[in-house]
Amino acid sequence: MDALLHMVEKHGDLKSLIQDWSSVYSIMDSVNGLTSLRGKKPLFSFGIISDIQYADIPDGLSFLGVPRYYRHSIAVLQRAVKQWNHHRNLKFAVNLGDIVDGFCPKEHSLDSVSRVVNEFEKFNGLVRHMIGNHCLYNMPRSKLLPLLKIPSIDGCAYYDFSPTSGYRFVVLDGYDISAIGWPEDHPKTQQALKFLQDKNPNSDKNSPDGLVGTERRFLMFNGAVGEEQLRWLDSVLCDATNLKQKVVVCCHLPLDPGASTEESLLWNFDEVMGVIHKYNCVKVCLAGHDHKDGHSIDSHGVHHKVFEAALECPPGTDAFGYIDVYDDRLSLCGTGRIESCDMHFNH
Ligand SMILES: [Zn+2]
Repeated sequence: MDALLHMVEKHGDLKSLIQDWSSVYSIMDSVNGLTSLRGKKPLFSFGIISDIQYADIPDGLSFLGVPRYYRHSIAVLQRAVKQWNHHRNLKFAVNLGDIVDGFCPKEHSLDSVSRVVNEFEKFNGLVRHMIGNHCLYNMPRSKLLPLLKIPSIDGCAYYDFSPTSGYRFVVLDGYDISAIGWPEDHPKTQQALKFLQDKNPNSDKNSPDGLVGTERRFLMFNGAVGEEQLRWLDSVLCDATNLKQKVVVCCHLPLDPGASTEESLLWNFDEVMGVIHKYNCVKVCLAGHDHKDGHSIDSHGVHHKVFEAALECPPGTDAFGYIDVYDDRLSLCGTGRIESCDMHFNH
C-alpha cells in the first residue's frame, strides 16, 4: 500500500496516476490481501459459443416445442466474432459443437459447414472446435475434422492444449463411442448400437420413454468416451497435476446431472467424472448440447457450466460471451441470453 501512496504523491493527483493502469495493476498485485479482486487483470481470456446449428431453412421447433431460428443463428455467430475481435485480448475462442443442424438438406451440408467455418475464421485468433451430434448428421468424421482443423489420430476428436504454463484445456470427444459419425461397419458403431440395445428398450433409440432418472441419457443422439480416451484423459490429468496446472475440461455433452437435463448427459459421464475426481486439477467443465443455461458445483467442488444455444436466440438476441481466467476463478462475461457469473475454486 505504501508503494501506491508513494505513486499518488509522485503524480500529484489520481487522474494522471490512473492513466497508467499497468503500474496500478503491478502495485495492486504486490499489495497482498488489500487488493480488490476486481482490479486484477485476468491471466488470459477466451471467447465462447455453443450450438449454432445453422441451416438455410425456415424456423422450426425442437421436439419439446422450443422455437429454433436456423437462419438467424449465423448472425449470432457474426456478432460473437465481432465482439471477440473488438475485445482485442482473447487468446482463443471455444466452439462447444453442433455448428450445422441435422435438418440441413444433405446436398447443402458442405456449403453450410463451410459458411460457419468461414465466419469463425474472421476471428483474429485460434478457434478450438469440438464436434456434436448435429455436425455428424451432416458429414462423417473423415470430412468434418479437417474442416474444423481438429487434431486427430484414427478419426478421434479429443486433444489438449495449454494457453499458459499454469492452465491446461482438455477437449473430450463425446461421440467416441457413438452410432453416428463412424462408418456403419466400424467397431465403435457396433459397440454403440449394442449398448443402446441393452440400455434402451424403445424401438426408437432417441426416445427416453420408460427410462428413469439419469437412465434417460441412453439415447442415440448421445455417446460415450471410449476406454482409450479415458486412459488418455487419466494421463493428461496426471501430467497436469505434476506440472501444477489447473484444468478446464470441454465436452459437447454435459458431465453433471446438476447442470443439465438427464436426456443430454454423456452416456458414461460417471466414468469420466471418476477419472476427473482422482485428481484435484480439474476446476471447471464446460458443455453445450442441452441448449439451456445450467451451472452446478459437484461433490468435489468442480464447476459444471452448460451454455445456451445460439440456435434458440429469437432474431436480434444473442447467446455468446467470453471468459476471464484467474488463478482462483473463471469469470464468464455473457452477452444476451447468457448470464455473467463467477466460478470460484480452491487453488
Ligand atoms: Zn448436440
